[in-house]
Amino acid sequence: MENLLASNIADTFLTQLQCPQCGAVYAASDLNTVCRTEGCHSTLFAHYNTTVHFDKSVLRLRPANMWRYREILPVTNPANIVTLGEGFTPIIPIVNSPNVTEGNELLIKNEAGNPTGSFKARGISMAVSKAKELGVKTIAIPTAGNAGGALSAYAARAGIKAVVYMPQLTPALFKDECRLYGADLVEVDGNISDCGKLIHDQAAEKGWFPISTLREPYRLEGKKTMGYEIAEQLNWQLPDVICYPTGGGTGLIGIWKAFDEMEQLGWIGSERPRMVAVQSESCNGIVNAIDNNSDSASFIDGGFTIANGLRVPKSYADRIIIKVLRESRGTAIAISDREMQAGVRELAINEGLFVAPEGAALWQAYKKLKASGWINYGERVVLVNTGSGYKYLENIDRHW
Ligand SMILES: *Cc1c(COP(=O)(O)O)cnc(C)c1O
Ligand SMILES: [Zn+2]
Repeated sequence: MENLLASNIADTFLTQLQCPQCGAVYAASDLNTVCRTEGCHSTLFAHYNTTVHFDKSVLRLRPANMWRYREILPVTNPANIVTLGEGFTPIIPIVNSPNVTEGNELLIKNEAGNPTGSFKARGISMAVSKAKELGVKTIAIPTAGNAGGALSAYAARAGIKAVVYMPQLTPALFKDECRLYGADLVEVDGNISDCGKLIHDQAAEKGWFPISTLREPYRLEGKKTMGYEIAEQLNWQLPDVICYPTGGGTGLIGIWKAFDEMEQLGWIGSERPRMVAVQSESCNGIVNAIDNNSDSASFIDGGFTIANGLRVPKSYADRIIIKVLRESRGTAIAISDREMQAGVRELAINEGLFVAPEGAALWQAYKKLKASGWINYGERVVLVNTGSGYKYLENIDRHW
């Protein structure tokens, strides 16, 4: 009886937050942002007690959303979970393009059906739930588009105020949805880094809790569920390659973290996919870093790209992204807007999938990596289509 009660109140295995760079430890019961060690300021990672026995077969009976992994998610009291049904998105094989996929199994993890039309729902559901648990009243976010819409929706659901800073050049729909959900939207003549600076300059004074990408520990925990799902949906056999459209890199780092946790839990072995960061030619700092064998990325903003999610001049966690790519023996590749545009059309007309330009970039990256021999015959490849194409119609040339 006592056990039952306890598991209703707190069944998370969360233990603490820890800095992956300097090792500093922080209490998970406090509101935290980044590491406070002087000169460090790294992203903080949530840690869990993975030594407990946790049989993955219990998952089968659970609802088809990301909260099925609740023991290795950070919310302490389930009453604080703010959910709109995010996660457990389908993995869809490419079937009608045999001349492209010949010799490979090519799979799309399709995030388009998430609430507010992108995988941002995962990270934001988690960050809003945890912020609610820790008593936050106003959340502020700099966004290239999708994260702002997701925050607006989840904050509305939670009864929390949302403040959204978004580049003016973002398609109108991304702005309209924020206003629709009742957020305060500020349009900025600049990029997401400019939005972030404006928010962080005012946050303390205005009493906002900023949840900028990887400067808050829990959006990562939401996005890592993609890694759990890829493993579970592929019957615990990880693919050979995962291509990921990399802006801030939250999903890439999160998927990698999920694989580590699953190995600790005994759910998978030590095998890992090669991770591919796919960027826009407009913001290709990670690609340059990999090409130049550098441990960090430089700030690069080539201006407008139809893949607004990829207009991130420099990720806060560039060093961690690069480390993951190295550890996984992966790579990075940049794709042009013209190629993304063509990719959107090819997947629509051949496969019935209307992917975001970010997802189309992966399709083009796959073709290039295969042509160069980096992807081999016999390999199984997963492309993470992070969003729905519908929100981008304004960016996409409709004169096919
Ligand atoms: C935000 C976003 C990305 C980049 O996500 P990160 O995990 O921060 O790299 C990619 N695609 C879409 C559609 C996005 O909205
Ligand atoms: Zn640190």
